[in-house]
Amino acid sequence: VDRGPRLHLFSSGTIAFGGVEAPVPFFLCSHPQGNVLIDGGNPLAVAVDGRAHWGPLADYFSAVMTEEQHCVAQLAAVGVAPESVCFVVQTHLHIDHTGALGHFPGASTLVHADELRAARTVEQPHAHGYVRADFEQPGIAWQTLDGDRDLFGDGTIRLLETPGHSAGHMSILLTPQRTGPVLLTGDAVDTASQWERRRPLRALDSQPDAERSLGRLRDLAGELDPLVVFGHDAAGWAKLSHAPERHYD
Ligand SMILES: [Zn+2]
Repeated sequence: VDRGPRLHLFSSGTIAFGGVEAPVPFFLCSHPQGNVLIDGGNPLAVAVDGRAHWGPLADYFSAVMTEEQHCVAQLAAVGVAPESVCFVVQTHLHIDHTGALGHFPGASTLVHADELRAARTVEQPHAHGYVRADFEQPGIAWQTLDGDRDLFGDGTIRLLETPGHSAGHMSILLTPQRTGPVLLTGDAVDTASQWERRRPLRALDSQPDAERSLGRLRDLAGELDPLVVFGHDAAGWAKLSHAPERHYD
């Protein structure tokens, strides 16, 4: 019997911005066809010297992260070697999502074409949430997407275009067999209060696009009634089942 994907929830520490401390999630999806890492949390350099790595952005975002919280170390703790990861999927390329880049030489790195283009070309990368050293590294096997993608063609891992927070943001819809649909909004929606339209969306690229993306995700949730995992929601995160002890299957 082909088992469905298992979803493991990790956080590479916390990030504080605007006076709120929030988790920095990343996700491992073990699919029968291979391990898929979704984002990588904070880069290792942030644990070593965040100010040196983030430059002026360190004035706005303060991270709490140890080297043991980097994605490679946390995956090792659940027995996942870097060579076993076949895809790294980037919801986007902001500073707190790029921790996997450069650490999984056997993986294809999937990112929306609009995201990679914007990250490489915007005139003020810091103002748009990017540190170019994170993604301008040799040896990253980029695979750019345009539109949605059903990663393995079996409907269990779907990448959905949700621009606005960043130029080519993607959210992820997973379907573990027992749990049923799980929607990883990424930073298209930081918190439940944004989801419920009580707080404005944090749109670094386009507010109208971000509103449309929220509408898209809410329509989808209306159809599928998924477990919804927000991008940076401390209260919501605390209620979920976390790796290494627990996962969703
Ligand atoms: Zn983020």
